[in-house]
Amino acid sequence: MTIELPELPYATDALSPYLSPETFEFHYGKHHKTYVDNLNKLIDGTDEADASLDDIIMSAEGGKFNNAAQVWNHTCYWNSMKPGGGGAPDGSVGDAIAEAFGSYDDFKAQFKAAAVGQFGSGWAWLVLDGGKLAIMATANADLPMKHGKQALITCDVWEHAYYIDYRNRRPDYVETFLDHLVNWDAVASAL
Ligand code: MN
Repeated sequence: MTIELPELPYATDALSPYLSPETFEFHYGKHHKTYVDNLNKLIDGTDEADASLDDIIMSAEGGKFNNAAQVWNHTCYWNSMKPGGGGAPDGSVGDAIAEAFGSYDDFKAQFKAAAVGQFGSGWAWLVLDGGKLAIMATANADLPMKHGKQALITCDVWEHAYYIDYRNRRPDYVETFLDHLVNWDAVASAL
């Protein structure tokens, strides 16, 4: 089974002005695609050639793990955003956020601290941990499924995610992600 680069869930200009088409040209068209291409080269002719992406992530190490996890992480990231997203969620997601974090503002402060505080490359996540919403940060390609948690939303904090549109201003990028981009539907469907 060849691992495929998934289609984006929206057009490359759909998240402008918050993320530009140029960012998608590089981040999706080059970075994400390269992880897919590298993984397919690494599994070609091996026992993992017919394995699912999740199975490779759970069993592989080194370059194979890094590329497989980065394929998964980026797909999760694109699905974590939508045009007109962000801001405080209402309904069942709003209730779950308030129950887990006290308030949306508390959630936002904690998520932003995790994303901005991740030293170097990595990811900030909203996860289900034993049925409860929680925030975590991971380094490089690491991801919640390796820690027994279910990823719901992720923010890519590798510099390549924000350098074209935000230069070195990671806090501004994370703030924009939370205020204008988060796809709360991805959380609602998991609750
Ligand atoms: Mn990335």
